[in-house]
Amino acid sequence: MRRSFSQQLLTMVLMSGLLIACLPPTGGATAVQNPYDKFRNREYTNAGYLSEEDELKLAEEVHSQVTKEFKLIQNQPVNAYITNLGNRLARKSERPNIPWRFYVVNDKSVNAFATLGGRVYIHTGLIAATSTEAQLASVMGHEIGHIVGRHGLENVKRSQKLGIGAAAASILGAIIGGTAGSIIDLAGNLIAGGFLMKHSRDAEREADFLGLYNLDHASYNTTEMIAMFEILNSLSRNQPSSIGSIMASHPAPAERAQNTAREIEEHLGLGAGGRRVTTTGEFDQIRGQILGGPTGKTRRARPRY
Ligand SMILES: [Zn+2]
Repeated sequence: MRRSFSQQLLTMVLMSGLLIACLPPTGGATAVQNPYDKFRNREYTNAGYLSEEDELKLAEEVHSQVTKEFKLIQNQPVNAYITNLGNRLARKSERPNIPWRFYVVNDKSVNAFATLGGRVYIHTGLIAATSTEAQLASVMGHEIGHIVGRHGLENVKRSQKLGIGAAAASILGAIIGGTAGSIIDLAGNLIAGGFLMKHSRDAEREADFLGLYNLDHASYNTTEMIAMFEILNSLSRNQPSSIGSIMASHPAPAERAQNTAREIEEHLGLGAGGRRVTTTGEFDQIRGQILGGPTGKTRRARPRY
């Protein structure tokens, strides 16, 4: 059946009205695109990068290098806590099945980083700076996001293209060929040059995006991620030297807080109807232990009599 021109016109007008009604309210201003839109519905695989098996091998070598440069905490309750928390989040990520490993670095700077293949490192200074478990989980979710987003692998690829370090040029051959010496050289170059942890601003935004959803899927109070950025914002204004170099290279905390708030408002809501974890007694205990330990800045060890 053919429709008259006026009928077609009416349909067009109605449809455009519907489209306008579907647009988010803009308060009269032109709508600014949500910066997270480009990450929505992305699929995450190792295609185009090292295979997962090779990634895990390289991660192991990189970890040996990390242990030479950073002092890792060997404290059973602290390690067990951070491992449980990390695994709870990682199991809800888009890479639930790799062997995740979470470590605590004995260092007062407010810092955290991820390398490859499920290895995440949290500084004691970061744990000290947080006040709830969900804030700590938001940083861990961000680091897990770097590994889900293959950002370390992207950096390996880039350093290989740039020919950074003699070993980088032969990375694929070295790993697949299995000459242990060159893998160790490569891991050393990657860590010494800080190549694994320097991500583009967009990769940082993607890690924030993935971290927020990770926090949500693990039933944490997502607004604590905004609180964490506010802590980082206040520290970077009042005590800039307390912020570690890796954290300092991220987008401004105010922008990160704004992006997170917008995503919660437009896509997540506040988790109504579900129970949301903000903090736990275990978090308080572990944080207290870290503050009171040898790295503590607020309490000195009690004198012994
Ligand atoms: Zn990051």
